[in-house]
Amino acid sequence: MSEVENLIIIGSGPAGWTAAIYAARAELNPLVFIGVPKTSPAIVLPGGQLMLTTEVENYPGFPEGITGPDMMANFQKQAERFGARKRGEDIVSCDFSEKPFKLVTNKGETILAKAVIIATGATANWLGLENEMRLARSGGGVSACAVCDGALPAFRDQPLAVVGGGDSALEEASYLTKFASKVYIIHRRDEFRASKAMQQRIFNASNAEPVWNKTVVDVLGDEVITGVLLKDTVTGEESTLEVKGLFVAIGHTPTTEFLDGTGVEFDDAKYIELNTRSSKTNIEGVFAAGDVADSIYRQAISAAGMGCIAALDAEHYLSSLSK
Ligand code: NAP
Repeated sequence: MSEVENLIIIGSGPAGWTAAIYAARAELNPLVFIGVPKTSPAIVLPGGQLMLTTEVENYPGFPEGITGPDMMANFQKQAERFGARKRGEDIVSCDFSEKPFKLVTNKGETILAKAVIIATGATANWLGLENEMRLARSGGGVSACAVCDGALPAFRDQPLAVVGGGDSALEEASYLTKFASKVYIIHRRDEFRASKAMQQRIFNASNAEPVWNKTVVDVLGDEVITGVLLKDTVTGEESTLEVKGLFVAIGHTPTTEFLDGTGVEFDDAKYIELNTRSSKTNIEGVFAAGDVADSIYRQAISAAGMGCIAALDAEHYLSSLSK
């Protein structure tokens, strides 16, 4: 068993690293569990979802934009400059029933901590179709990350499809228009949920085409995808759309499974429930920041802001312990 750590931060996206910057500068000696890379079924990387983003154009302070991976490398460098430590492991379970808290790593080690900031983010959802998962795992042209896979030779100058109507779907579609001969955006309604600016970008692209009122009911193809079977949400009619790639962008699920049984309170979608205007969970000494506790805004800048709040709350809590 380890010595008691002052502050453990779980997660290494904008929330986790910002919390680490603030905590390290406050001399709390934080230890960041950055996670283990995973590629199946969803792609999860240390650094979080920005690792799967090309250009970030809306983070203040970068007038020319910056790539997601570059931004996360900078966040990490800044936290490490002030002494934040990192470990490339996952926390797989937690015991918050007594203090110090006990956190178990994927290697089976138990870490003791006075305070914990959960900043584990959220991962991409899938449609849940058998052939979708089979072709995603085999690299047969189904993906939940256009930015990771869209530039592959198999997709170049081919008709592709994106499923979803939010900002992620339109961002993925916009990215794919650079490579594909055609990008269909399959949406279950006749109106996108994405921001107007994102919609405009798609409507301006000559090779992007919305496919309204359709759900994907099957993915066709043995070794590689040859098309999708669609069902009209109004008429119930089925049709086939021939595509050489399918990119699923239908939202995210918060990474909170490892908190099951800890008593931490969630909302209906299993995002962590926070005290209004703070990062405090219902358990004293356990804080949360970023997408894991935010089903609404989910931006890099809002996650970073929440990371700052969590570090300040943790600092306040830790200093109250020593009084
Ligand atoms: P989202 O806004 O929740 O959108 C999910 C989309 O997928 C919706 O259009 C939804 O349809 C559709 N969908 C959900 N389940 C489905 C299913 N089983 N079958 C078919 N379609 C399904 O998720 P998101 O696009 O990932 O965005 C999440 C948050 O991140 C948002 O707040 C967004 O603004 C933000 N974001 C921002 C940027 C940016 O600013 N650059 C980029 C990406 C994401 P309905 O519309 O019918 O519900």
